[in-house]
Amino acid sequence: MSSTAADRTTIAKIEAIPLRIPMKSGAIPNAALWGDKLSVADSLLVKVTTRDGVEGWGEAFGLGAVNSAKLAVDELIAPQCIGQDATRIGPLMLAVQKKRHAIGRGGALTYGLSAVDIALWDIAGKLANAPVCQLLGGGVTTMPCYASVACYTEPALVRAVVRQAIDAGFRVIKLHESKMPAIHAARTEAGSDVELIVDVGCPWTLPEALAVADELKAIGLKFLEEPLWPPENFDGLAELRRTTGLPVSSGENISTLMEFERALATQAVDFIQPSPAKMGGITELIKVFPLAAVRNIPVMAHSFYDGPGLLAAIQTTAALGTTDSMIEVRWFEQEASLYGDALTPKEGRIPVPQGPGLGIDPDPDVISTYRR
Ligand SMILES: [Mg+2]
Repeated sequence: MSSTAADRTTIAKIEAIPLRIPMKSGAIPNAALWGDKLSVADSLLVKVTTRDGVEGWGEAFGLGAVNSAKLAVDELIAPQCIGQDATRIGPLMLAVQKKRHAIGRGGALTYGLSAVDIALWDIAGKLANAPVCQLLGGGVTTMPCYASVACYTEPALVRAVVRQAIDAGFRVIKLHESKMPAIHAARTEAGSDVELIVDVGCPWTLPEALAVADELKAIGLKFLEEPLWPPENFDGLAELRRTTGLPVSSGENISTLMEFERALATQAVDFIQPSPAKMGGITELIKVFPLAAVRNIPVMAHSFYDGPGLLAAIQTTAALGTTDSMIEVRWFEQEASLYGDALTPKEGRIPVPQGPGLGIDPDPDVISTYRR
């Protein structure tokens, strides 16, 4: 008896694969993120395979969350997805969310869900023999992008990494620095033609942010990312914008559509930053674009990833973004890259890969070498 089309697109297997890729020797030293020294880049890939052998690749937010997201995929998400139809992504993701909502509406569970969702969109594109941006209505073939560099604190090191990014063709650079000497050093090195984004990572109360606002304004920023603690202090962000005129961004730590709506409704941001590998994958990401468009707020997807999470941001933004939308490119010097040179930016633009699904598959040799 021959199998039906639905049988063939049934999800047969879900595998969560932790990767650890070391920084290149000779890279600029003392890279750190959120106070942790960065000598390797940890990430979590998720491979979904249908009964017919179509493979989709997803990614969960990595770094320190890899083990917990893997556990969420293996124990909480995969068992509910195996045997289901890979081509009904929205209903399946909703069913998982509803069944697991009591465990959490964010964090590792949602990172794992995001990875599975992205992999299912990869499969959807492969079955249609079209890149995801085409499934979403059609998109551009290159996107403006910016270099997102790690935290180096020491002004001389900050200048070195900024110089490296400028030499690589970037005209917009994001720092992860919150100390003024480091931020000043970046502006000195960059001159006035290069735009700077400063991601401070939620350190300040509103009065603390107000105290440094004039100095930050004088440096001239494209936007200030996540200035306040806690990240969901949307009223505080709105007041910071209103009273200082500083352009503000946030969104990578928002994990539900309702919270995105609240951030936008309170006028908390000038740019909204949904993170596809953190907030539910492409299924949820595409809902943020119309929400933001209603208020004329550009979507600047957070894509501090190198794998399918980055491709999800690229494919979705290529189709749904506005002219102000840019792609965040993590600018680490790693030993190896999942996509070789396929995503290397040129003149500040990143290619939108045009293969089916996410546009390109990860290199199996890199996976087997750096799997842990
Ligand atoms: Mg950030």
